[in-house]
Amino acid sequence: MIRILVLLVTFLGFIFMPFLTSSGDEKPNWAIVIHGGAGSDPQKWNDAKTKIRETGLHRALTAGRDALANGGNALDTVELVIRILEDDAAFNAGRGAVLTKEGKVELDASIMDGKTGACGAVAGVTATRNPINLARLVMTQTPHVLLAGKGANQFAEQQKVPLVTPDYFLSKARFPENEPHYGTVGCAVLDSNGNLAAGTSTGGTSKKLPGRVGDSPIVGAGTYAANDTCAVSGTGVGEEYIRNSVAYDVAARMRYANESIEEAVTIIMQQTLQVGVGGIIALSKDGKIVMQHNTPGMSCGAADSSGRFETHLVLKNGGAPPPGTTADATKSTTVETEITDVLLQQVEDWNQGDIDSFMKPYWNSDQLTFSSGGKITRGYAKTLQGYKQRYPDAKAMGTLNFEKLEFQTLGSDAMQVLGTWKLARDDKPMEGRFTLVLRKFPEGWKIIHDHTSKKPEEKSENEASEDTVQQ
Ligand code: ASP
Repeated sequence: MIRILVLLVTFLGFIFMPFLTSSGDEKPNWAIVIHGGAGSDPQKWNDAKTKIRETGLHRALTAGRDALANGGNALDTVELVIRILEDDAAFNAGRGAVLTKEGKVELDASIMDGKTGACGAVAGVTATRNPINLARLVMTQTPHVLLAGKGANQFAEQQKVPLVTPDYFLSKARFPENEPHYGTVGCAVLDSNGNLAAGTSTGGTSKKLPGRVGDSPIVGAGTYAANDTCAVSGTGVGEEYIRNSVAYDVAARMRYANESIEEAVTIIMQQTLQVGVGGIIALSKDGKIVMQHNTPGMSCGAADSSGRFETHLVLKNGGAPPPGTTADATKSTTVETEITDVLLQQVEDWNQGDIDSFMKPYWNSDQLTFSSGGKITRGYAKTLQGYKQRYPDAKAMGTLNFEKLEFQTLGSDAMQVLGTWKLARDDKPMEGRFTLVLRKFPEGWKIIHDHTSKKPEEKSENEASEDTVQQ
């Protein structure tokens, strides 16, 4: 009888082993995370754009999952998945690349092997169908790491990679010129041999200067992989990722400061990078997946050997860990994230020309105070009216950006936020500082006081005399 029981337990254990070993917090056999760019709020996209993005993510993630489940290695899987995304015109890489100021494409890509530290990259290539393929050839067929411009194009011809003519690139047909379109693609993989790899591919930023190179082909900035820590790919304002060595910083924080992958990414997203800059996908050697963005949205997806399979166009709370589940270092930033989200939404609404929505986070009360250029406006209605007078149309509104946010807690339900604002406009760009006081109401954080200074001073009829107090 005992023997039969032992046999039965062994048999059941065998049957259920794949589920038991891959569930919960246990290390998955393999894992994959992808992104298709950080940027604007997908809720504002039309159905067609939403659909092609979701379909593209699903297709690429499925291919990556199947490759890994069949024993595919990390580098091959990264290349395979990025190729699929490069061939999909819904993303800003390969076929769907955005154009430079001169209306041409200049493509950047990089790939890194976490096992050996080998890496390869190309920048400013103009006729290669799959820049990730060329980046891998730089890694394997040359003693170099990065080839750029003319030399990279010549290398593509020598290597006989598939080349295309300029009409192949469809970004103009798919996305109107005036739509801010981020859609850089990236992938990080842990294979069943415990090897990590990462890669990133992009058309760069729309209307970039010819010759501009972002972070995507810069190993350590947009891409990084090392078997002792993690694999990372970034998306967003490339200049910021280069300045802050973002992809390498995730690994360095894990390696030297013993941070978990989630802590490392959270700190970089919330403390190193300015609000609205971009997103990060990262995968630890233990198969832990992190996806975070500090922009209104990020196309991304994750799968692993436990059966996890998910794609997103936006992550709740930007993918940041929920309160109470994170390490001390990131706990204090939860409230900051909530407020940052409110301010990000304001920027988004302003840039859509929607002052009514922009005003929603203001306290709808006669006690709201708005102080600008020495003039104090009291009450929600008057403040709204003032904004509408000063910014009658989208041209006057220009493009708003908030930077350098500093948070000072004023007790448990109030916060002071300092920062700078910039208004890009054709005729008169402006900038200045602001001090906001926010209070937490049952319906969320509301701005109860806003003090703004600006340069150059805007002298309108009403504002010419300083110290006027409207009651
Ligand atoms: N990081 C890319 C670049 O700056 C753009 C992006 O991710 O959207 O070239």
